[in-house]
Amino acid sequence: MAILDGKSVAEKIQNEVRLEVERLKSDNGIVPGLAVIMAGDDPASRSYVNSKSRLAKKLGIHSELVKLPENVTAEEIVGVLTKKNADPAIHAILVQIPLPTHLDSWWLLDHLSPEKDVDCFHPFNQGLILQGRGRVFPCTPLGIMRLLDHFAIDPAGMNAVVVGRSFLVGKPMAAMLSNRNATVTLCHSRTVGLAAIVREAGLVVAAVGKPGFITADMVRPGAVLVDVGINHIAKEADFNAYCPRSRYEAFKEKGSIITGDIHYQAFAKAAHYTPVPGGVGPLTVTMLMYNTVELCKRAISVTRDE
Ligand code: NAP
Repeated sequence: MAILDGKSVAEKIQNEVRLEVERLKSDNGIVPGLAVIMAGDDPASRSYVNSKSRLAKKLGIHSELVKLPENVTAEEIVGVLTKKNADPAIHAILVQIPLPTHLDSWWLLDHLSPEKDVDCFHPFNQGLILQGRGRVFPCTPLGIMRLLDHFAIDPAGMNAVVVGRSFLVGKPMAAMLSNRNATVTLCHSRTVGLAAIVREAGLVVAAVGKPGFITADMVRPGAVLVDVGINHIAKEADFNAYCPRSRYEAFKEKGSIITGDIHYQAFAKAAHYTPVPGGVGPLTVTMLMYNTVELCKRAISVTRDE
């Protein structure tokens, strides 16, 4: 069983992105710009937004955070989006989700310019993925594809099972694997006989949000396991149920740790697996920077062609 080390692949891509940012500055005098729009003060969102700002700074990308109050109106968010859509210093826009529940997220995201849609929220960009001609891809599935490519795992011909059908992870992941010639089954909470379906898979992508959801008995020997889940474990009983003893000191020291959707006992049966932390997570934030630079390059070439 081999670990698919997302951290080292992410560092390699970050170096490439940093060099590309330098090249854009020296050749074109342009600094790629990312705007992150956050409404409310959800602690998890705050921590994600901070790590995005830190990485942007490290790679030389200009980043702006627009913080809006929890009770922000839809019209105010559309006002910010309209301004950032027209701002020539901003090439990429991310709306941090989840948005406060009084807002209609779909309607709001329709106001994001497809040209600046860095995490592929806009239906136009999602539609292009389904047609197999995506220009921008959601950061998490894109990171997973890069990870598989790095370790020379070709999905073509594989029986791939994606568990979870969110519009940012599961659904585009299924479409992207299908575009790469995997035979894909997309499972969700109403799937009947899920364990038997997963047991047939050569490649499992778990994006459920439930610790240890994919258990060892559901995994075919030699499968590739990709764990997207981020689950915070703070209780001793949960630690005992979902985490290996080797992480106990870290758990005690910090008071909580994160674990994935695939039970650690399943890893022994796998040919390859992504750890949590250190697997898919570092790639997601890295691909946000990669996409920012790609959108900047596209904006330059469009301006040049006009
Ligand atoms: P989400 O929007 O909450 O969707 C969860 C999916 O899991 C839904 O499709 C749901 O089915 C399915 N599900 C829930 N219970 C199930 C069950 N008992 N059996 C089968 N399917 C079940 O989640 P998400 O945004 O895709 O995120 C999933 C996990 O990945 C979370 O832990 C999140 O924190 C993590 N995440 C990590 C990264 C990263 O970079 N590592 C990035 C994004 C998300 P229904 O559609 O039927 O409700």
